[in-house]
Amino acid sequence: GIGKATLGDTGTMTAAEARVHACDAMIIPAVLGAKSEPLNLGRLRRLISAGLRRALFLRDRGCAFPGCHRPPRHCQGHHIRHWADGGPTDLTNLVLMCAHHHRLLHRSGWEVRIAADGLPEFLPPVFIDRRRRPRRNNLHEPLPFAA
Ligand SMILES: [Zn+2]
Ligand SMILES: [Zn+2]
Repeated sequence: GIGKATLGDTGTMTAAEARVHACDAMIIPAVLGAKSEPLNLGRLRRLISAGLRRALFLRDRGCAFPGCHRPPRHCQGHHIRHWADGGPTDLTNLVLMCAHHHRLLHRSGWEVRIAADGLPEFLPPVFIDRRRRPRRNNLHEPLPFAA
């Protein structure tokens, strides 16, 4: 959570920014000590497989943030419990989000969870709603059920 991150060709970014990228992308983070000795290498299991990504598209049908219209092709997977903190890469821990709302979620008081019915819901920060009542995105068309 502190310090800087380095990418091959774009220079450095803050550790917080790197965490947003690593949340979805196929980046294997390496935590380096003072002499650049690797202290910790990321696990591979967080990578979202093609099948899991399709299942996520079918469930969320676009950015799951309340009021967002962005379709699945503009979205990335957010780990509700970050993989670096031991969160699994499966449907119970993933939510589809556009880049804008993904960033917002990492930087603001919004929280997301999977409700009892298996669908994601968002809890606003207290300055938006003191009671933090969960909200959902109802804008994406339901998929027609296959007969
Ligand atoms: Zn994320
Ligand atoms: Zn969005």
